[in-house]
Amino acid sequence: MTPPTYNPDILIIGAGLAGLSAANDLQRAGFKVLVVDKGRGLGGRLASRRIGGATFDHGAQFMTTRQPRFVEQVNQWVDAGVAEPWYSSVPGQPNSHVRYRGVPTMTAIAKYMAQDIDILRTTAVTAIAHADNGWIATLDNGATVSSGSMIITSPAPQTIELLATGNTQLPDDKCARLNRIVYESCIAVMAILDSPSNLPSPGALMLEDGPIAWISDNQQKGISILPAITIHGSGAFSAKYFDDDRNLVAEKLIAAAKPYVGANVLEFQTHGWRYSKPLVMDAHSCMLASEHTSLPPLIFAGDAFAGPRVEGAVLSGWAAAEALINC
Ligand SMILES: Cc1cc2nc3c(=O)[nH]c(=O)nc-3n(C[C@H](O)[C@H](O)[C@H](O)COP(=O)(O)OP(=O)(O)OC[C@H]3O[C@@H](n4cnc5c(N)ncnc54)[C@H](O)[C@@H]3O)c2cc1C
Repeated sequence: MTPPTYNPDILIIGAGLAGLSAANDLQRAGFKVLVVDKGRGLGGRLASRRIGGATFDHGAQFMTTRQPRFVEQVNQWVDAGVAEPWYSSVPGQPNSHVRYRGVPTMTAIAKYMAQDIDILRTTAVTAIAHADNGWIATLDNGATVSSGSMIITSPAPQTIELLATGNTQLPDDKCARLNRIVYESCIAVMAILDSPSNLPSPGALMLEDGPIAWISDNQQKGISILPAITIHGSGAFSAKYFDDDRNLVAEKLIAAAKPYVGANVLEFQTHGWRYSKPLVMDAHSCMLASEHTSLPPLIFAGDAFAGPRVEGAVLSGWAAAEALINC
């Protein structure tokens, strides 16, 4: 059978929060949108996993709100039952930002954002090229997408790789902006415990020094029936050990977490986020890469443009949609 060709007005690469936010705004504006994501689940770095009877958030842990439109968006998620306040301060760390969590897990937010959008999951875009009046994207299942415009929300190094697959030549200043973006890595460990952890309420511990950046108690958070913790390695630790044997690295993190957690680990799994959070970001909320070129509309978006967090990804997606509508 001949692989299909899809013909949306706009192809969006990535079903993380940037891609889904752009998709919703563009669809509301009357465009036919197709989102393609290589991942099995929706949400990109909003990620949850079940191991046995335990449930873990192992990517983004919570959201904070700053910009008025995002405050409104989170309130709408709360009304829809897919988000709720988790905590606003931890013992010894005064902080007034309310941390919102997804309900039941962080990925609920992505699923909610995706409900009216056409999405191809477990499908990677392997090459992109521009034609006379649009973009041709090749998918790993042999299908192609022919679209008038394209938004790419993958982390910048992956976007650079994708651009190199076809005939897309960006101006030097735009290439330089993409190349400047730097991410830290994060090794995540998801561990089932033999008894509840010793972490004080609300079950969230941020550490400044050492191998661990974050420990959360998924049971206290209210997402896991069984005692279960997520440990995030610090940026320095994760960079140092990213390519080492993951189980041995996880054992180091579990040992370092023991004084805080108390309980013993029965079983664990790991996940490596090579591009976890942007450390060096672009100065704009998205990049209209095709501006001042003969290329069809092409926009880069994601948290590297509008802030290294869930809110930044959403704001960048909205900015990309607006830039495309005004193209
Ligand atoms: C461990 C960790 C902890 C974090 N903690 C927090 C937190 O507590 N609070 C907070 O606000 N933020 C946190 N963040 C950051 C937050 O998760 C991100 O800022 C946000 O989710 C980024 O969204 P995005 O849409 O820009 O990118 P992503 O979510 O990365 O989405 C990009 C998508 O593109 C897809 N993709 C890439 N290449 C291709 C391709 N060639 N073909 C098809 N699909 C492709 C990917 O599969 C992915 O789904 C954390 C991140 C990590 C990793």
